[in-house]
Amino acid sequence: MKILNYINGELKEPAAGAYLDNYDPSIGQVYGQVPDSDSTDVADAYKAATAAQKGWENTPAEEKFKVLNAIAEGIDAKREEFALAESRDQGKPLWLSRNEMIRAAQNFRFYATAAMQFASESHAMENRAINYTLRQSIGVVGCISPWNLPLYLFSWKIAPALAAGNAVVAKPSEFTPATAFLLSEVCIQAGLPKGVLNIVHGLGPKVGQAMVEHPKIKAISFTGGTVTGKYIAATAAPMFKKLSLELGGKNPNIIFADADLDKAVKTTVNTSFMNQGEICLCGSRLLIEESVYEEVKNALIEEVKKLTVGDPMNDSTRIGAIVSKPHYEKVKSYIELAQEEGGKVLIGGQTVHPEGKENGWYIQPTIIEGLKAECRTNQEEIFGPVITIMPFKNEAEALEIANGTEYGLAATFWTNDLKRAHRLASELEFGIVWVNCWLLRDLRTPFGGVKSSGVGREGGWEAMRFFTEPKNVCIAL
Ligand code: NDP
Repeated sequence: MKILNYINGELKEPAAGAYLDNYDPSIGQVYGQVPDSDSTDVADAYKAATAAQKGWENTPAEEKFKVLNAIAEGIDAKREEFALAESRDQGKPLWLSRNEMIRAAQNFRFYATAAMQFASESHAMENRAINYTLRQSIGVVGCISPWNLPLYLFSWKIAPALAAGNAVVAKPSEFTPATAFLLSEVCIQAGLPKGVLNIVHGLGPKVGQAMVEHPKIKAISFTGGTVTGKYIAATAAPMFKKLSLELGGKNPNIIFADADLDKAVKTTVNTSFMNQGEICLCGSRLLIEESVYEEVKNALIEEVKKLTVGDPMNDSTRIGAIVSKPHYEKVKSYIELAQEEGGKVLIGGQTVHPEGKENGWYIQPTIIEGLKAECRTNQEEIFGPVITIMPFKNEAEALEIANGTEYGLAATFWTNDLKRAHRLASELEFGIVWVNCWLLRDLRTPFGGVKSSGVGREGGWEAMRFFTEPKNVCIAL
């Protein structure tokens, strides 16, 4: 598969003609080419975007709705093609890609309706004046997304940016460019006016950096690692760009003795290992109340034994391939570190070589116990199929451990005590708290983290507010 940039409504070769290899992680081999674009391509994309922006901003809301909805329908119509491309590119099981493609289409559908309904506020000042807040499009905005949920997260940014009347320059991760490329074809078919969305493929430090440095791209919505986020923030700050940063996590998953333990254990398998643990919301630190520690631990190990690791295209596969060789090596190095730090591997820990896919990058789902809350394994984001488990004595201790990292993205806990549910939900220092569930998503809710997990929120009206500039108009009566 040869990927092309999407600039000014056309599929284009990168200006310098350079390409990078694109790997299929299930076999560890190159299967395609992705543009190695540079600042010239970003400048071209900006030129097209700025030429198109006012026209798009002034397009009636109903027309915006129709086009965004047509993009959603275009993804739905090619769902299987999209899902196959996503699994091949990313390594995730095909059943999961199918679900994510439904969600990518939903993102466009959700923000198609937002284009129709988003409104300005007004504030009457007795009989002296009326204030109204114009929510105006920002202009040209940049969207940068990671490799773990490629189209799902790409569309989560692009759809609200477009619904708010902006033109977009966007960069998917060069590890997983395939579905963004298919999306450009869908946008052409859906009649999205040329230049309104431009997708530039390539490396973060080249293409992403050129976007963040571009003085006229006025806002950047970024999802990725905390280190990259810091760098982007430092680059963008002197230009006073608007920034939305969705960064890493080290999420706790807390099981209290009074919970529905069966449900907690069954869900925890997903919380820990869905998408090979490569979801920013996965719970990587499992805290279990002392009195049920052994019972929950053993039940979880039994469930994990049932998970098949292997070819992403097989229906029976629960854990697919790790996205890239460097990431595979990083995850393996953390399993080694955990043991150096005194951790005991209860299950997993090894590389898997599925028949016919021996050179792919596969790691068994891994549970490690016996580590202190402060050790590196419990403080740093691993972002793979690896969790640690720790016992706790009481709610206060669980809270202290849960809050005791630099991250604050998502916390999950399991209890049937209503008072505790509200108390703990309020005290956990996280942007998202799930009680007796995990990854239950309502697209209207604010999404994002605190501390080193990010700045700002996506989702619902939050994203529409981010992608617009409020202007107060005061009219004396
Ligand atoms: P990275 O930070 O490495 O990359 C994210 C994106 O930024 C990629 O497109 C990358 O390009 C690009 N990039 C890299 N360097 C720069 C730069 N200097 N300027 C601009 N853009 C740049 O993250 P990963 O792709 O490794 O994704 C995994 C991370 O994402 C994890 O930490 C995870 O927790 C986080 N994440 C957070 C979520 C949230 O909502 N909070 C959701 C999902 C993931 P390239 O691919 O070329 O490096």
